[in-house]
Amino acid sequence: MEKSNGLRVILFPLPIQGCINPMIQLAKILHSRGFSITVIHTRFNAPRASSHPLFTFLQIPDGLSEAETRTPDITLLILLLNQRCESPFRYCLTKLLQSADSETGEEKQRISCLIDDSGWIFTQPLAKSLNLPRLALNPTKPSFFRGHFVLPQLRHGRYRQLQDSEKEDLAPEFPPLRKKDISRFLDVETEILDPYLGKIYETVKASSGLIFMSCEELDQDSLTQTRQEFQVPIYAIGPSHNQFPASSSSLLTPDETCIPWLNKQEDKSVIYVSFGSLVTISESELLEISWGLRNSNQPFLWVIRVVDSVNGAKLIPEEIMRRLNEKGKIVEWAPQQEVLKHRAIGGFLTHSGWNSTVESVCEGVPMICLPYFWDQMLNARFVCEIWMVGLHLEGRVERNEIERAIRRLLLETEGEAIRERMELLKEKVGRSVKENGSAYRSLGHLVDHISSF
Ligand code: UDP
Repeated sequence: MEKSNGLRVILFPLPIQGCINPMIQLAKILHSRGFSITVIHTRFNAPRASSHPLFTFLQIPDGLSEAETRTPDITLLILLLNQRCESPFRYCLTKLLQSADSETGEEKQRISCLIDDSGWIFTQPLAKSLNLPRLALNPTKPSFFRGHFVLPQLRHGRYRQLQDSEKEDLAPEFPPLRKKDISRFLDVETEILDPYLGKIYETVKASSGLIFMSCEELDQDSLTQTRQEFQVPIYAIGPSHNQFPASSSSLLTPDETCIPWLNKQEDKSVIYVSFGSLVTISESELLEISWGLRNSNQPFLWVIRVVDSVNGAKLIPEEIMRRLNEKGKIVEWAPQQEVLKHRAIGGFLTHSGWNSTVESVCEGVPMICLPYFWDQMLNARFVCEIWMVGLHLEGRVERNEIERAIRRLLLETEGEAIRERMELLKEKVGRSVKENGSAYRSLGHLVDHISSF
């Protein structure tokens, strides 16, 4: 860490793994630049304070019941959190500001700003009322952030009754999504989303800046357009997973036994399978994936999470499990970044969450994309059609399709070409976080901005 600069930054992540990871990564980055860090967090999905002894953690009550924390509707969960956390957060932040004001002598630190997830919609007016600058961190790809505000306008239009002949067409309002992607998005996300998106738009526009864990190399056009539209400073400071790994912010304990298992496999032979922290795989999909993996005859490492106390792996019939164990390893949670870095990994069958996507790019691992909801469909289009570093399953969770995709990626010349393009992308993104790269410079501007408050 650089010498302390006497400034403290308050961070407030949304309590979802894919939002906690980039926020803690940002905390590590700012700490390395001399800032002191206080993380305010909910009781639900509280980050592990013991993994970050240099940061101060303050817990606030979130008022969620046990049943509410288990809702599979993530938008609903986030809306509830927004309703219930406003007043405890106000109390906590006000007290922090008061105690910082009353400090004296060498210990005195100035709280320079609040940085919270763009999904918190009460923090902007609250910070303003306390005279505290607020920046928003958005954990998705800038092109998704910019584009997704159009979705409420498409809800009642032609995307609900697409003809078969137009499903594959590009959606002109939100490229590179296809029309069928939009229709699928609108099927999953109900109308409660629409006013919420409006609030995010409004509060980010009123903020003192917006931060993305992306870089010009991955998102130049969207970053330019977002700057023009939002008229606030925009920083694309990552991805810097190699320098600041997200693994320490894992809410679940990773099963480290997969590393010695990977050590025994040949170079680039293993397919890593994980669908992140939110997607729930149905029993029939579990079976199709099981057979697809087994029939590909490639070794695999598969993360099957425990959801609502149900261990998904237990749903796989014994006979198939016996066959799976001949070739692969199943864990409940993996040290994903360490896994992707491993020389034995040849491909990643992924739900295309933004963190997983950039972690894969940073390690140069080509992907097989099976997106489910939210930004995943857009990330998958970028991976497969813009950067051309992966194969798209187009929602077909079928054993033959999965087997075929694994073989194409790991064994055929098509896979070699994909791997070469991925190497180039990895190098380009790697350069952006090194001295004088675009993300490195953006981080410098962010540090100057925060220091100027
Ligand atoms: N992750 C992990 N171990 C696993 C699966 C996922 O550490 O077994 C991490 C992964 O590295 C990533 C995050 O969980 O940082 C998932 O975020 P992402 O945006 O990919 O998906 P989400 O969970 O938000 O759908």
